[in-house]
Amino acid sequence: MTEAKEELREIVQFLADPRQFTRLGGRAPKGVLLVGPPGTGKTLLARAIAGEAKVPFLSINGSEFIEMFVGLGAARVRDLFQQARDLAPCILFIDEIDAVGKVRAGAILTGGNEEKEQTLGQLLAEMDGFDSSKGVIILAATNRPEILDPALLRAGRFDRQVLIDNPDQRGRLQILQVHCKNIKADPQLSLEHIASLTPGFSGADLANLVNEAALFAVRRNGDLVTESDFDHAIERIVAGLEQRSKIMHPEEKRRIAFHEMGHATVSLTLGPSEKVHKVSIVPRGLGALGYTIRRPTEDRYLMDEHEMLKKIAVLLGGRAAEVLFLKSTSTGAADDLVKATDLARAMVTRFGMSEAIGLSVLEEKELTYLASPQLPRISPYSEETAKSIDHEVKSILEKGLRLALKELNTYRTFIEQGALELIRKETLEEEDVVQLWDQHVQSAKVSA
Ligand code: ZN
Repeated sequence: MTEAKEELREIVQFLADPRQFTRLGGRAPKGVLLVGPPGTGKTLLARAIAGEAKVPFLSINGSEFIEMFVGLGAARVRDLFQQARDLAPCILFIDEIDAVGKVRAGAILTGGNEEKEQTLGQLLAEMDGFDSSKGVIILAATNRPEILDPALLRAGRFDRQVLIDNPDQRGRLQILQVHCKNIKADPQLSLEHIASLTPGFSGADLANLVNEAALFAVRRNGDLVTESDFDHAIERIVAGLEQRSKIMHPEEKRRIAFHEMGHATVSLTLGPSEKVHKVSIVPRGLGALGYTIRRPTEDRYLMDEHEMLKKIAVLLGGRAAEVLFLKSTSTGAADDLVKATDLARAMVTRFGMSEAIGLSVLEEKELTYLASPQLPRISPYSEETAKSIDHEVKSILEKGLRLALKELNTYRTFIEQGALELIRKETLEEEDVVQLWDQHVQSAKVSA
């Protein structure tokens, strides 16, 4: 969890000495949302932050607010925040916040709307009225960020999100090493090998695996837990995971490898502004749409038209690689397509970058906090204009795809090599990619 830990270290420092952060008038972080699939240790991590900072840890499960008698949810929220204020500095942890924080439209359909809304409303009010300099940090965890009410993610509330994903091969090895301390393992046992056999396993799955293997050893009256016990246990757990569709088949792995190399390559070749930090085919526990929490679209920096097109090309690089190397498309690009379309639409309707549409801003009004998503959206423009917007967006996307395809075609061998490496290692770090790139460019020079 190297990256997540890096991001959370600041929270620990803040809790240990809040004044250090506010000395120059800065605002300390208020809420941090831990996002990730089940079993990846979000609760453990929250607890560890409190432990590291040596502050009290208050925790509650989101569903506990809901299961109460009518009217008590909101009161419970109030109490909890009061308690946190009294204990400060401390951590207030809300697990499964989606239970209270669901988008409100869903509540209308399922009933019990008013109660949930009161509870959520109280939670928002408490967070707003909170003075973070007093040293209370609110952590929350969810594996379904996409259903959270956008109001929860606004600035000053859970405006920081940390992704806690399933571990990669190296992470799995480290987790196995921790759990295997508790069993009598055969010295011949290769944990590296087991780590390589378990892509898609979460930390909890790995703990379960070690335990299952030990049970197998007991059942056959063995003295040590051996590799074959692990094989049996993996078989059993994989069958269970397959039903939850978390395990990748070799064909899928290949497709994802090419897809990811597609993104990486376009981003490498289209200029210095984009950097490839890491390419990975570790199954994302959150599904394609997992980590698209509503953050402001890329308008925080100044980007010129060309850069935006590059960005679209990078987003479409995955799809382009699938088309080029596997001659077919898949659902894997869904999230990329959403992002690319948003960007292309913004170019047309917001940044005046389309000649046909001109300079007028034609954005649809964003839903406000109180508006019901079930109400039809009101377009500020005619149907005819809507048509030409669609046309312009489409042509920008096509331009982006052509750009991506051109780059990928030029660097075919690099992509093929990279995909093979990815299938073997699952994750390529920045230096691996650079090394492979240099090798490729070198050999291309020699053959030229
Ligand atoms: Zn992609």
